[in-house]
Amino acid sequence: MCGIVAYLGGRRCEPILIEGLKRLEYRGYDSAGLAVLSPKGLRIERAVGRVANLEDKLERLGGLDGALGMAHTRWATHGGVTEANAHPHRDDRSGICLVHNGIIENYAALRTYLEEKGHKFHSETDTEVLAMLVGELYEGDLEHAVQAALREVTGAYAICVICEKEPGVLVCARKGSPLIVGVGSGEYVVASDPSAIVAHTTQAVTLDDYNVVKITREGFRSSTIHDVDVTPKVMQLELDLEQIELGSYSHFMQKEIFEQPKALRNTLRGRVDLDEGKVVLGGLSNFGKDLVRARRVLLTGQGTALHAAMIGRYLMEDVGKVPATAEYASEFRYRNPLIEEGTVVVAVSQSGETADTLAALTEAKDRGALALGVVNVVGSTISRETDAGVYLRVGPEIGVASTKAFTGQVMVLTLISMFLGRRRSLSGERGQMLIEELQKLPDKIERVLEQDRTIRRVTERYIERNNWLFLGRGYNYPVAMEGALKLKEISYIHAEGMPAAEMKHGPIALIDQGMPAVFVANKGPQYEKVMSNIAEVRARGGHVIAVATEGDEHIKTVAQDVLYVPDCPDCLSPILTVVPLQLMAYHAAVLRGHDVDKPRNLAKSVTVE
Ligand code: GLU
Repeated sequence: MCGIVAYLGGRRCEPILIEGLKRLEYRGYDSAGLAVLSPKGLRIERAVGRVANLEDKLERLGGLDGALGMAHTRWATHGGVTEANAHPHRDDRSGICLVHNGIIENYAALRTYLEEKGHKFHSETDTEVLAMLVGELYEGDLEHAVQAALREVTGAYAICVICEKEPGVLVCARKGSPLIVGVGSGEYVVASDPSAIVAHTTQAVTLDDYNVVKITREGFRSSTIHDVDVTPKVMQLELDLEQIELGSYSHFMQKEIFEQPKALRNTLRGRVDLDEGKVVLGGLSNFGKDLVRARRVLLTGQGTALHAAMIGRYLMEDVGKVPATAEYASEFRYRNPLIEEGTVVVAVSQSGETADTLAALTEAKDRGALALGVVNVVGSTISRETDAGVYLRVGPEIGVASTKAFTGQVMVLTLISMFLGRRRSLSGERGQMLIEELQKLPDKIERVLEQDRTIRRVTERYIERNNWLFLGRGYNYPVAMEGALKLKEISYIHAEGMPAAEMKHGPIALIDQGMPAVFVANKGPQYEKVMSNIAEVRARGGHVIAVATEGDEHIKTVAQDVLYVPDCPDCLSPILTVVPLQLMAYHAAVLRGHDVDKPRNLAKSVTVE
């Protein structure tokens, strides 16, 4: 889930590893550790909590020497958050040491087998089992031992392995969890994502599932776990350091909220043809015919990406003119779904590594669907596993609570729906109107961002309240869900988002004196209905915070607080209405004193099911 960084080269690796871990901190974790191999032997240090704790510990110890090492941030899946469970883990015989992201699903059976062979375990983790297994199978060649061990495991992994007996060798492998090998001059930096690599090199080799890479100072070899040679895929990392630095902002989440106008201009650039009222998506151009014939679009994702997918569903039907559904990837996968001919599956994921979404995608592809990806991270697993796709181009998202990726996803889904619609029955005129309106959105977001202070003041008014409702209809029902999710994720306030009409079927019982109810009440086709729902909340003592359309004076007479967004067509409104909700969540977390970019228990990209 979280982070791996490893180094082999001519420099002292400890500072490189620590710096790399800091770059990966945003991925979410609960403990950290590192192993360094020097002529004096193997040293492993671990600490619970922040990378800074590990750093302090290393400082107290006087630092570690050695030019081969690896480091890890752990997001516990098996075994509590303790130093003993933190990585690296080592075997008890051969001096083999390993870091791992993911889950070894058959760890219990393997542990029993290894215990019968006399191995003694010191942690509760699935990872230590893998370290022992590599040790058990070691016959003097680390690469072969790793391949043999991986042939025995089921689950997901990105691993790096070193061995005291082979001081110039680093072996890495992946299945399901991300890992890339940065190739510098005479040195290698292996990491879970480019942010820990780009300070050293922009040349990288990607690994496919079941690939193993053996690295030495002389070069590297890629193979499969069955020891078949693999031609390495080299890619250029396109990330500059500024993109992953905080600059003048207090938090990455804040930076990313404010970056949305710029990010969405990038998403749109070169993708619209105003004269023709058409959308130009290079990533889909080979599949135009399949998309014309599509009978159903199934959008899938988890968390924020699912909320974008839910908006995508409305867009596909309203603009794309094709029946559509949206559902949790985790549920889709296991319900034995029926995929008819002409089904297009759209997998939505910021990281492109989300395990549930990836699994759903594979399931749908196996059953004959055409698979499209809407992802942010270029070269990620989902982008490689899909038949075609459209990148968000919003730049790296570091804040755990997704913001600019959400608006980017909605923007891309709008473009895809127009791509489909113009090949069906969406008129050129409506196409032109939508393109003009899409192009105005970045400036309109800027106008919403100008109200930052007001939004903070309104949030402050309700900051003591522990239960919030978020309500909306139509296109803005998923926005209400997203508003609630943002608040929960970073401020730990309990919030529920739902269709405004659903409230009276049960949740209305929750409303008491002063309970905050946030309504997305922009001027859309269901405005009057939303007004009735607002009245229902007011009648029971609830306090209404409304996100409304500029110029709507009436709303001030029914809501205690109003946050305005500029007018736009209803189908594009989520890109504007979500922004005040993102800012509310941000301010709520800051006002409550929480670490916005490192919310408890959360990881940035969820690579386990
Ligand atoms: N499953 C392993 C553990 O609980 C690795 C978790 C991770 O990805 O950090 O230690």
